[in-house]
Amino acid sequence: MNILVINAGSSSLKYQLMDPDTQNVLAKGLCERIGIDGRLTHKIPARDAKYEFEIPMPTHAEAIQAVLDALLSPEHGVIQSVAEIDAVGHRVVHGGEAFASSVKIDDAVMASIEECIPLAPLHNPANITGITACQKVMPGVPMVAVFDTAFHQTMPSKAYIYELPYEYYEKDKVRRYGFHGTSHKYVSQRAAAMLGRPIEELKIITCHLGNGSSVTAVDGGRSVDTSMGFTPLAGLPMGTRSGDLDAGILEYLMNKYNYDIDQMLEILNKKSGMLGVSGVSSDFRDLGDAAAQGNKRAALAVDVFNYDVKKLIGAYAAAMGGVDAVVFTAGVGENSPAQRLEMTSGLEFMGIKMDPEANNVRGKEAVISAPDSRVKVLLIPTDEELMIAQDTARLVR
Ligand code: AMP
Repeated sequence: MNILVINAGSSSLKYQLMDPDTQNVLAKGLCERIGIDGRLTHKIPARDAKYEFEIPMPTHAEAIQAVLDALLSPEHGVIQSVAEIDAVGHRVVHGGEAFASSVKIDDAVMASIEECIPLAPLHNPANITGITACQKVMPGVPMVAVFDTAFHQTMPSKAYIYELPYEYYEKDKVRRYGFHGTSHKYVSQRAAAMLGRPIEELKIITCHLGNGSSVTAVDGGRSVDTSMGFTPLAGLPMGTRSGDLDAGILEYLMNKYNYDIDQMLEILNKKSGMLGVSGVSSDFRDLGDAAAQGNKRAALAVDVFNYDVKKLIGAYAAAMGGVDAVVFTAGVGENSPAQRLEMTSGLEFMGIKMDPEANNVRGKEAVISAPDSRVKVLLIPTDEELMIAQDTARLVR
């Protein structure tokens, strides 16, 4: 079975054509500059081949058409006809309270995704555009929506209610939703497989640490708490996002500098986090380099991040009444042995003991805790596309 996985952004679109059963990726790539001019990067892993094309993409429909043309091309294609694509799986950022799992897309589902636009004004419209473009270019091919928020819909109300007047939850749906759900679900399932134990028996803390970061408490395979909130601005500090802060700071800065709310949010979303504190970069690699050359603010930015991850590990162990495994994933989690050591240092009291040698690994599944560590610490590269393809296959079969 071949599933086309689509992740549509406002001016870009990522795709992967894969067989979810064998996990073989036939082709993958990226359309960029949609609505501006248009560029397609197309890769065929089996041939280790990469192609780049300039193709006009006034809208997402032309981008999808360019993807299909590349997949079908006699020179750099991997299939002979569109009929070889059994279904399309779409990443959708926000499913609100309407979706606790992936769904086959029909008119009612599209209407519900549209209703969630106010909750994700930047992301859901792009995801919808991606779906309608595919429906136009590939009529009759079944489509599935896989939501970033769905995995977290199992959180108990004590984890998702903000202590605001209750009407804002009832009337306006203001609550914690959480994001990166597909990644947290994937790595928690892989963790259970690596440990050779049923996920129902396990308490797992999954740390998705990349440009955007969140930590989730997964009890018995269900998300019971997560650090992102109503929006992906919450929780840990990130590349350019502040993460959690005292809301009183907004009033203080807005009054002092006469900022309106848009200017304030621009600061919180684009100029804060690693970039804001370091003044150097939002990229953890640059911060590591700068810190090594003695840049104190770069070192401080990373210190704050590592410390906040450590606090969440402690908090979620408390929330679940224990922890069997801690998982690191995404750009930083998969690639920074030094940060993983820092984030787990001093946690021996709760049964976490790292193996510095085993931890000296990047980008592949590994147990990185000491053999006698009561809590297993795992490195698991995330694979959201595979999760989307597997959900899609399950729903269309
Ligand atoms: P992601 O959003 O998952 O793609 O992660 C991107 C982040 O991972 C960027 O801040 C990168 O700097 C970081 N990253 C990638 N490789 C490394 C590395 N070798 N050491 C530290 N951070 C890394």
